[in-house]
Amino acid sequence: MGAKGYGRVRVHLGRVITPLASGEWQEFSPGFLAVGEDGRVVSCGEWDGSAKGRFSQAKVVDHLPCVISPGFVDAHIHLPQLDARGMAGYRLLEWLERYIYPAEMAFEDTTLARCTARRFLRELVANGVTTAAIYSSVHCEATQVSTVKPPRWSLRRRQPLVTGR
Ligand SMILES: [Zn+2]
Repeated sequence: MGAKGYGRVRVHLGRVITPLASGEWQEFSPGFLAVGEDGRVVSCGEWDGSAKGRFSQAKVVDHLPCVISPGFVDAHIHLPQLDARGMAGYRLLEWLERYIYPAEMAFEDTTLARCTARRFLRELVANGVTTAAIYSSVHCEATQVSTVKPPRWSLRRRQPLVTGR
C-alpha cells in the first residue's frame, strides 16, 4: 500500500497492548493501531517518527492514555443470568434456587429473552468482549430469539454469534 493508500486508513493512538506468540505481551506507549476501510488492522507499533511519516495522510484519533488491546474472549457465559450478577454470599444450592433457576425459568417469556439478549450483547461489547460461547436456557424458542444478529456497532459483526442451551 503506497502513501496515498494510507489516506483511507484510520490511526488510533493509545497504550497498545498486544499478545505475542510466546504467550507474553508487548506494549507500545504511545502506540498506534492502523485500521483500513474494511475494518482490518493494517499495522500497529510504536507511534514514533517513522510511523508518523508512514501514516501522515491518515486520519488520527487520539485515545491516549487509554489502552487499546485485542478483544476479550469469554469461553463460558450464561445469557439468562445477566441480571443475577453480583448476587453473592450464598451457598451454591441456595444461590441457584434464589437467583439462577428463576432467571433461567424467566426465559420461557421470549420477549424477555429477546430484550435480555440485546442488553447482553451491548454489555459484552462495552466490556471489550468480542467473542463468547454463550449459553441460553432450556427453552428452545428463547434460544432461537436470543441468537440475534450482532448489532452494527459490534466489532465482530461479520462473525456468527453462537448460542446453545
Ligand atoms: Zn456455566
